[in-house]
Amino acid sequence: MLQRPEPYLDPVSYLMKHNPELPVHFFAVDALRERLGAFLSGFPGLVTYAVKANPSDEVLTHLVDGGLAGFDVASPEEIALVQSIGPQSDLHYNNPVRTEREIQAGLRAGVRSWSVDDASELDKLIRQGIGADHEVSVRFKLPVAGAHYNFGEKFGATETEAAALLQRVARAGFRTALTFHVGTQCGDPQAYATYIAAAINIAKAARVSIKRLNVGGGFPSVRTGQGLNLQKYFEVIHAAVSGFETRPDLICEPGRGLVADAFSYGVCVKSVRAGRVYLNDGIYGGLSEFPSMVIPDFRVLGPDHERNGKTSEMVVFGPTCDSLDQLPHSLHLPDDLCEGDWILFRSMGAYLTGVTTRFNGYGNRETVQVRRL
Ligand SMILES: *Cc1c(COP(=O)(O)O)cnc(C)c1O
Repeated sequence: MLQRPEPYLDPVSYLMKHNPELPVHFFAVDALRERLGAFLSGFPGLVTYAVKANPSDEVLTHLVDGGLAGFDVASPEEIALVQSIGPQSDLHYNNPVRTEREIQAGLRAGVRSWSVDDASELDKLIRQGIGADHEVSVRFKLPVAGAHYNFGEKFGATETEAAALLQRVARAGFRTALTFHVGTQCGDPQAYATYIAAAINIAKAARVSIKRLNVGGGFPSVRTGQGLNLQKYFEVIHAAVSGFETRPDLICEPGRGLVADAFSYGVCVKSVRAGRVYLNDGIYGGLSEFPSMVIPDFRVLGPDHERNGKTSEMVVFGPTCDSLDQLPHSLHLPDDLCEGDWILFRSMGAYLTGVTTRFNGYGNRETVQVRRL
């Protein structure tokens, strides 16, 4: 990782000057600051950041410096990382499956907010002696499709289970809360209203007046292809919460929505053949999200100009010797594409740094700060 004190103007000026060998993650600090500002000023509650979306030091540092006080963490390692950068941060341990050792590590680090989706996990928290003033959020799921990625497949109680669990949390004397995740890159703000309506029903069924509602992540990057109107999401959430008898405080935990648009990712063309192209990164590295959800949005840079001419469909491979290392969809690439050209993918700040493997000796990249992407 290279960090330069003086940012380059843009990715093109960096690539022209240095002709780098490794893939390059371009970071526009101002874009991150601007998005953080939009969340902090627009969201009607507490904003926390889901660390797994991009756990790099430079992102965490800029978020802490920009006034972000809370983090959604999922493991003792993420807790240690956040505390090394923002020791005063408010930690929300919202991975609903934890070993007793992980709970102890959370307690030692000062965690006071936990989520659960099953009675066995609540029992573990009680056995480990979490404090009476701690918040316990019950995570529920709905049988809805629509998001790019189904978070409910792994975590979340059904609405009936959630009502029973919420009652137990209240009886045990903890601060009561409900939480959900609409699914990442959620293009439809109404999805939040659907989940909030369900939360209202769960609280009613349990006869518990919840103190806080955690609306999770899911806020999209611009890559939905339909523009991004974050304010609309905030308005829908604010309006939907008025259905509670007593309005709970709100908290959100964006990952992708906060960091994705602050980065682009440059990969270099290693070889061009008839109908196929080989890149210096692929699905075991920075392009790991392509099989599950990426709608590619990119431009192609030749040695001294952007290639805007006629395109053809090309099958795209990564650099490893594994035949799985291929993008799931062909890309429309310029007919004059050459070895040494760069493909610059937009909105690549989320779920890239944390999931890169070292397979076949790849996985290194540079990180370069730019003024604009
Ligand atoms: C991953 C995760 C998030 C962030 O999701 P995004 O779709 O990236 O916003 C938020 N909350 C929890 C509990 C998560 O696991």
